[in-house]
Amino acid sequence: MKSWLPGWFGTHPKSDSPSLIEDHSAELPFACEHSSGVAVPNRQKILRQLHTSCQRQLLMLQQVLQLNSAVILWSGPAIDELSIYTFVSQFEQLVVGPFKCGVGVTGVLKERDELILAPVNEFSTAIPYYENHDQVGSFMAVKLLVSASSGCQQDGVGLLCVDRASKEVWNDYERQLINEAAEQLTADVAMARQLFVYDRERHAYRRAFDGLRKLNAALGLESTFSATAAAIKTVVPADFIAISLAEAEHHRICYVQGDNAEKLAEQSFPIEQGLVGQVIKYRRTLPDNADYHGTSPVFSSAHLFADYRSLMVVPLQQEDGPIIGAMTVAAKQADMFTLTCREMLELVATQVVVKIQLANSHEQINRMATTDTLTGIANRRAYQCGFEAMLDRARRRPGSLYLILCDIDHFKRINDRFGHPFGDVVLQQIAKLFVCVVRTNDLAARIGGEEFAILLEDSDREGAWKVAERLRALVSDLELQFGTTAVPVTISLGIAAFPQDAESIEKLVSYADQALYQAKAEGRNRTLFWPNQETSQPA
Ligand code: GH3
Ligand code: MG
Ligand code: MG
Repeated sequence: MKSWLPGWFGTHPKSDSPSLIEDHSAELPFACEHSSGVAVPNRQKILRQLHTSCQRQLLMLQQVLQLNSAVILWSGPAIDELSIYTFVSQFEQLVVGPFKCGVGVTGVLKERDELILAPVNEFSTAIPYYENHDQVGSFMAVKLLVSASSGCQQDGVGLLCVDRASKEVWNDYERQLINEAAEQLTADVAMARQLFVYDRERHAYRRAFDGLRKLNAALGLESTFSATAAAIKTVVPADFIAISLAEAEHHRICYVQGDNAEKLAEQSFPIEQGLVGQVIKYRRTLPDNADYHGTSPVFSSAHLFADYRSLMVVPLQQEDGPIIGAMTVAAKQADMFTLTCREMLELVATQVVVKIQLANSHEQINRMATTDTLTGIANRRAYQCGFEAMLDRARRRPGSLYLILCDIDHFKRINDRFGHPFGDVVLQQIAKLFVCVVRTNDLAARIGGEEFAILLEDSDREGAWKVAERLRALVSDLELQFGTTAVPVTISLGIAAFPQDAESIEKLVSYADQALYQAKAEGRNRTLFWPNQETSQPA
């Protein structure tokens, strides 16, 4: 069915009219309308300006050459079709198109740059935008070709068509004028396309810059990972994001969002496996064109991304620095990642490396500051901070917080008899037992020379008793040897509870200490609650 345009001036009225500057590649969601909306802020302005300048050219031609119509045909979404982009005409109606390329006058696109029909008669090739060409005496068409530029990956092809009532052959001057108009139109379109690309890229870089700023503000590994994902999403419309870190012979997924995130989180894969392994090995982004067909293993052959059509694995490395891992970014739609996306993701990756290294050294410093160097368990500082935090939590919850203070019995004698280095070994052996008796939420610390503490969150009297007694039994069962001499070791323990016994750290410590003192006084190798309500029997 034919669709008609009113005469005089006109532009293809439908929204899917051919656009002279946006070729297929420019219509890609990232390039154009990704996530938060229009990614080319000045799009409408550029289109309007181009349209005005095309109309001026056509009007000028119409007036100077006394034309019936001057028409620009341009290729639409289907590459082998032309439709009217804009025109001036003295006829009432023109056919909009689309017209199959190669049929009738549109054949000019294939073989040559220029087509002249003069005079036009009943045997002449049909002029597509007229129902019939009764009123056309002569016709000329010139090819408009705008070569692909960066960001516009396809050539733009169109036709400038002019016709008039006169059957006169177009003279040299007229032909030159029409060709110059075509050149001018081509230059205008090329310029507008370039502006479009600049505008889109400028906008994309600005968004990426915002993402990088947020990434810079992130502290610690966890928030670095989530800020990285947010920064990636400002650059590409990703459905899946993972950050893998290289660890000796493996790459481990440290952060993941998207399909199967729960299954993939914290999984390790042999370093030679999957695209991630390749990227870490060859230190470059893969696959080359970000095309993905759902078949190559990303992490390992057990993890295919069958539903994904765009995928990029970007190395996490600084220019000359070591590679620390890779970021995997994938989208279900095809052709989502342009060259600009890739460059920006690589830029994000260099920032991520710096942040991960900073977060790691921060964590290491933190660990050193809170770990006891001799035994490797928490130190007094960690105990104090942990105590405050746990008490704070306990105040807001119904459960109880138990403090167990422990002290090695007659430790001075061990030192005096077997020497200080052996005393250190005893401390290390006992510290290992603390790790065995506490749950992940509890805290075991060496708070002084041969004094230790345990903090039990959300516990009860029976639970605290069991932990203390288990520890006491484990210590007394330790079969320490100095040469051939067996060295028996025991500990004494004192327990106080929040909120039953006291509400402040100072009082809890003082009461647990008094219970411990009492246990020593009663013969050592025993556990006592404050105020001396229950006592274990020495082994
Ligand atoms: P009690 O049963 O009453 O607790 O007797 P004790 O001998 O354990 O008591 P005291 O507090 O008098 O002795 C603690 C000893 O712990 C004294 C000190 O030499 C020793 N000590 C403290 N820190 C360390 C350490 O880091 N390494 C070693 N080997 N010994 C230490
Ligand atoms: Mg002591
Ligand atoms: Mg002691």
